[in-house]
Amino acid sequence: MLASVRHRMTDMANLRAIPSVEQAAQALEPLPLPRPMAMSVIRGELARLRRSKSIPPRSEILEQLGKRLHETALSRLQPVINGTGVIIHTNLGRAPLAPDALQLLQQTASGYCNLELDLGSGKRGSRGLYVEQALALLCRAPAATVVNNCASALILMLRLLTRDKPEVVISRGELVQIGGGFKIPEILEATGAHLREVGTTNRTRLADYAKAVSKDTGLILKVHRSNFFMEGFVASPSTGELSTLAKRKRIPFVEDLGSGALIATEAAAGIEHEPTPAEILRQGVDLVCFSGDKLMGGPQAGIIAGRRKLVQALKQDPFFRALRCDKLVLSALQATVEAYLDAGGGKAGLPKDLPAIRMLTAPPAPLKKRAQRIADALSGAPAIVQVVERNARIGGGTLPRSELKSFAIAIKPLAASASALAALMRQASPPVIGTLAEGFFHIDLRTVFPQQDPAIIQALGAALNRNPLT
Ligand SMILES: *Cc1c(COP(=O)(O)O)cnc(C)c1O
Repeated sequence: MLASVRHRMTDMANLRAIPSVEQAAQALEPLPLPRPMAMSVIRGELARLRRSKSIPPRSEILEQLGKRLHETALSRLQPVINGTGVIIHTNLGRAPLAPDALQLLQQTASGYCNLELDLGSGKRGSRGLYVEQALALLCRAPAATVVNNCASALILMLRLLTRDKPEVVISRGELVQIGGGFKIPEILEATGAHLREVGTTNRTRLADYAKAVSKDTGLILKVHRSNFFMEGFVASPSTGELSTLAKRKRIPFVEDLGSGALIATEAAAGIEHEPTPAEILRQGVDLVCFSGDKLMGGPQAGIIAGRRKLVQALKQDPFFRALRCDKLVLSALQATVEAYLDAGGGKAGLPKDLPAIRMLTAPPAPLKKRAQRIADALSGAPAIVQVVERNARIGGGTLPRSELKSFAIAIKPLAASASALAALMRQASPPVIGTLAEGFFHIDLRTVFPQQDPAIIQALGAALNRNPLT
């Protein structure tokens, strides 16, 4: 009884320890966020505290508030160093842009630009006309256009082609999920299309497609297995076989290529061959779509290439207006496409200065040298520091089987866990993102820009010498 009264009294005293929002904000200056944002975080946290059973002393309250502000500040969009070895990392923003792309983007976006003005005639011009022509050339297609991302490209094509005939013929082996929240069957159904599934998960034959085609078939859709592979008792008709069937039945044939490599991946990086839009179109596909920010190495965009009549019809769909790209994307895309065209369309040579392509094709020896230099700089730190060979991946739901020989620095702190080190590195400035394996924290040099090496040394040194590490 007495104990409980005493308890209540301390609680009351502590309740008085709860500062007002203003008092807390003042005590926590300088705030790491715009004031209204910081106030909102503090208000929420204090309200939660008032509802809780036990109220800590004011110093603890302030410490807690400081932590919440710091967490919110960390969640602001900011550059990070990618030490995961995954080149197209969706969580880390996929492809980094080329310097030329950034320069053009900066110039067109910081002022005005001729987005929809024909400078020759002085009349209203067509948005994206030049980049569409350049993309068509790059894909060796009669025509091309561009929307916000590959998912919207797919939706746009489905809407158009199922307007009069609602069925989409697709293999059960291709009703897949691509990354978080992108499920092909859901996308298809959201457009109002009716799925006409054929074959089984592991085997679909040309005859299955042929049997499924009816007067209600609007298109045949093939989805490239970009983020997984199947082995064993598997079969599916080739793009060429399917396009012959589609032509015979007079049905449009569309392929969602996803990653959209524009270079010969096998020659450039010694990995498996990733089909290019040009070669898919050569096999008779009517329309192909792919992402701008995967293997192409540009901004987020969905590129559609193929038959002129179909591309024009897509552009006339009222929905196209809702999916169109802005000047930022079109600027970055134009510079990216030109980098390929300057390199002979990906045939003669590799596009210069595209970070994703440079990382994909970087030889391992210099990576090892850089890892060794970082390890040397950390000698004396309270940790086991090694240079290890490992396999980097392409990522972004592309080439799941392909691995690139790479080198990483592997660090195991003497006084703490590798995951504690990983957590500290995520809060460095800039944050450094690595991976954990066998008790070590790994930073793979393939995805680190060489000019970021000093920042890694600095962040690792600071984290390892922090006492205590956690
Ligand atoms: C990644 C991918 C998509 C989605 O592309 P976004 O540009 O992210 O919308 C669609 N289809 C395939 C096959 C993909 O690999």
